[in-house]
Amino acid sequence: MQQLLVSAQYIKGVGPERFKLLNKLGIQTIRDLMYHFPRRYLDRSRIKTIGEVLEEGRKSSPGILPEQTIQGKILESVLKRTRRWVSIFQIAVGDDTGIVYATWFNQPFLKEYFNKGDEVILSGKLKFYKQPFLESPEYEIIKGEEYEPLHAGRIIPCYPLTAGLNQKYLRRIIKGAVEKYSSELEDTLKLIPDKPANLLPVPEAVRRIHIPDSEDDINNARTSLVWEELFMVQMSLAERYRTIKKNTVKHTLTISDNLEQRIRQRIPFALTAAQEKVIGEMKNDLIGKYPMNRLLQGDVGSGKTIVAVYAILAAIGNHTQAALMAPTEILAEQHYQTIYRLLENSKVRISLMVSGIPRKERQEQIELIKKGGIDLVIGTHALIQKAVVFNKLSLLIIDEQHKFGVEQRETLKSKGENPHTLIMTATPIPQTLTLTLFGDLDLSVIDEMPPGRKPVKTILRPSAKMPEALEFIRQKIHEGRQVYFVYPLIDESRQSGKKSEEEKASRAMLRSATQMAKYLKAKVFPEYNIQLLHGGMKQKKKDEIMQGFRQGKTNILVSTVVIEVGIDVPNASVMVIDHAERYGLAQLHQLRGRIGRGEHNSYCLLFGDFKTPDAEKRLKIMEETNDGFRIAEEDLRIRGPGEFLGTKQSGFPELKIADLSKDLEILKAVRKHAFKIRS
Ligand code: ADP
Ligand code: MG
Repeated sequence: MQQLLVSAQYIKGVGPERFKLLNKLGIQTIRDLMYHFPRRYLDRSRIKTIGEVLEEGRKSSPGILPEQTIQGKILESVLKRTRRWVSIFQIAVGDDTGIVYATWFNQPFLKEYFNKGDEVILSGKLKFYKQPFLESPEYEIIKGEEYEPLHAGRIIPCYPLTAGLNQKYLRRIIKGAVEKYSSELEDTLKLIPDKPANLLPVPEAVRRIHIPDSEDDINNARTSLVWEELFMVQMSLAERYRTIKKNTVKHTLTISDNLEQRIRQRIPFALTAAQEKVIGEMKNDLIGKYPMNRLLQGDVGSGKTIVAVYAILAAIGNHTQAALMAPTEILAEQHYQTIYRLLENSKVRISLMVSGIPRKERQEQIELIKKGGIDLVIGTHALIQKAVVFNKLSLLIIDEQHKFGVEQRETLKSKGENPHTLIMTATPIPQTLTLTLFGDLDLSVIDEMPPGRKPVKTILRPSAKMPEALEFIRQKIHEGRQVYFVYPLIDESRQSGKKSEEEKASRAMLRSATQMAKYLKAKVFPEYNIQLLHGGMKQKKKDEIMQGFRQGKTNILVSTVVIEVGIDVPNASVMVIDHAERYGLAQLHQLRGRIGRGEHNSYCLLFGDFKTPDAEKRLKIMEETNDGFRIAEEDLRIRGPGEFLGTKQSGFPELKIADLSKDLEILKAVRKHAFKIRS
């Protein structure tokens, strides 16, 4: 096993230069080299003549054949540029029986790679458009030294590459490493007793994924390695879970009937069954010896805040301190207002900590927290700063956690001695991500909306149709409702940084919040109060504007996505999102969650410029469903976990082979085993 952790530099054929290139692919050790899996395969065992393929193509009715592999000589090549920014590279390939074309989009550099007269193998789907062609096939040039007859007539792996490394080279050294070292890999799957029969031992799976004899080989090897990968992730989560639960809390809490009653008196509405269930789960943790470490999931508007308030009051009722951290100042301020109102005429001392508070005031605030003169601190990441020290912190609540990194969470935790932690998330996060990213947490879910909510009606239209919606909006404002307009940019002048010409050109066409606020005020709704809100404003200004909107003085709020999380103004019933194509589905769902919070019918109007039918189709799902989980699954499938989560969260394990949008069943199975082993 030790040997596998040796630098890949010492493998035959890898020197310092090549090693640097391998690093770019994330390969450091010999083990990494074996875990650099093929992206796909080229099936040379099934090479057909071009004539055969064309004949089959003519016979098949829809005109698309499954994957075909041919071999021939390049007769000519041409690079065409069509509309802006689209390039088409095409080659014609012939053998004794016919000629076929191959086409790649937006890969102009291929022109340098293929030369007339080269012998190539191509693998791809045959399509018909004017003439038969292979669309973006896998390719391999067979010439001189590059060609290894060793591989002929087999299924050949194709690896993710980086500039300076070619397929042939990677194939050779990976194959070498696998043949020499794979038998030393540990078979971690041994630890799982009742696993499916087709799983291979890990060393065998690694060998076959690189050197397969058949389609079945590839599938079994892949499944086995997915099991292994997810199992290892879950084992480390289980380990972390156990560590957290090993330490006892410093401040033990009790919730007497009397305290329970006093808390309940502060809740202004009847809780939903789901909220009650979650409070029950939480209460159990809070009165226990070990720190609560719980994730609270609930769709936007499901009422997570009041659940947090329950925990906060339990902590304060025990004469300890609580902290609530939110990702934006607007949201922190809103929580402050809400909780302040709930606790009016009580002795609870609350403090709001955001950046931009005058130095002297800040100093006093910090002193008070330290002395225990404040019971609840609500704030942004300003809470994390070193100077903030608590007197008796027993509870930590993090709202809309997906905006915070793991490290920020940990820093805040370290301000108490094993404080209870409740992490609230604006779902929707698909289950696979939850179990991976937050797999060391206990999970509570609010799966029910407060009564009386009407589903938001969502309508998707091309941007050009926006003027038609304006009269509808006027009508709604006339009825007393309020409206959000959301834009991706603050204004045109704020396009900072180096941008490619393309990026600049596409941005120039974007409408911005500033521009639209002016336009709406001057040209469309002169009779109404319109305000602009964005992240570039001073805190005081933002507060004023939010305050005006909350109080109903402002009819229309034109904003950037700063309103994305948490804002709660029940009278707002129309949300207009322009350039909807610029947002992820999960983000659109968050934005839409700002409306439909009161008793009024609510409308989400999405406008977009759709360059492709796929772009439009992606957004169609917003019209079809209000179910955050369904939207999240779809978003994850389309964009992959990295982008789905927005920023690259530290702490998110990089998965080499498992696909979190597909492998939920395996994930659940390995998790069960991992937690059993580690309990
Ligand atoms: P989120 O889960 O998105 O944070 P909030 O906690 O902001 O949702 O709650 C959304 C709105 O629903 C708030 O106005 C809140 O007062 C209200 N609310 C929460 N729970 C209930 C309930 N059980 N009955 C009626 N209204 C509720
Ligand atoms: Mg919230």
